[in-house]
Amino acid sequence: MFSLLGHFGRALLDFALPPHCLVCREPLAAASEYLCPQCWAPIRAVRPARCPRCSCPNAERGCANCAAWELERVLVLGDHAGPLREAIHRFKFEGQRQLGEPLGWCLGQAPEFAAALREVDLLIPVPLHAARQRERGYNQSEELARGLSGVLGAPLCTDHLRRRRATRQQASLDAAGRHENLAGAFEVCGVLPAHTCIGLVDDVVTTASTLSACAQALQQAGARRIWGLALACPFLKPPLGTRPFLDAS
Ligand SMILES: [Zn+2]
Ligand SMILES: [Zn+2]
Repeated sequence: MFSLLGHFGRALLDFALPPHCLVCREPLAAASEYLCPQCWAPIRAVRPARCPRCSCPNAERGCANCAAWELERVLVLGDHAGPLREAIHRFKFEGQRQLGEPLGWCLGQAPEFAAALREVDLLIPVPLHAARQRERGYNQSEELARGLSGVLGAPLCTDHLRRRRATRQQASLDAAGRHENLAGAFEVCGVLPAHTCIGLVDDVVTTASTLSACAQALQQAGARRIWGLALACPFLKPPLGTRPFLDAS
C-alpha cells in the first residue's frame, strides 16, 4: 500500500515538478535521465592518461600504486571536478541522499564500465563505520550501489562486508601508516556464494588502499574477481616519489 502511494506520489510530483538536472536544475527532456547534456558532457570528456588498472593519473611510467593488489581494476566515471564534484558534494556533505541512486544510474551508463558490469554478480558497497554512518544518516556508497543495482539487475549486498573499527583519515598518513591504519579494518561475515565476481562500490576513489583492504577481505572469503567501481578520482599530478591518492571518506 505504501509502495503504491509512493508510486502515485512520485507520478504526481513528476507532473507538478517536471524532472530537472540534478546539478544545474535545468529542466530535462526525458524523465529517465538525471543530468542535462551540458552537465553530462564534461563528466564524459576525454580524460588525461591514467593507469588502465587503478585509474590513478600517473600512467606514464608504469604504476607502483596497483603493482600488488587484489582488485581486477578500478573504474571511475570522471574526475572529481566540475558538475560531478558539485553533485558529489551535495550528495555526501549536504545530506542530499536522494542523489545517490541517480548517480549510481550514471555509473551504469558509462561505456567503459560495460564489460566489468556484465561480469559482476554481486554489488557490495565500501562500508562506513557505524558511528560515521549514524552521523551522516546513510552510507553514500550503499546509495550509489542501489542505483547501479537498479541498472544492472545484480543484487546489492550490505551484510557481508563490515568495517570492524573506525580508521583515521588516510591523507595525513604515509604509505606505511596507511597500511597499518587499514590492516584488519574490514571483515567478511557469513559465506560468500562460491566463485562470485564482485563489484565493490565507492564514491570517490581516494586511497586505493581502502578498496584494496576491502578486496583482500573479500578474496580471503572466496571472491573470485573484484572490480572497483567509483564515481570519481581526484585529478592530482603527484610529485615524483609520492603516492597519488588523497583520502577523504
Ligand atoms: Zn545540468
Ligand atoms: Zn595503477
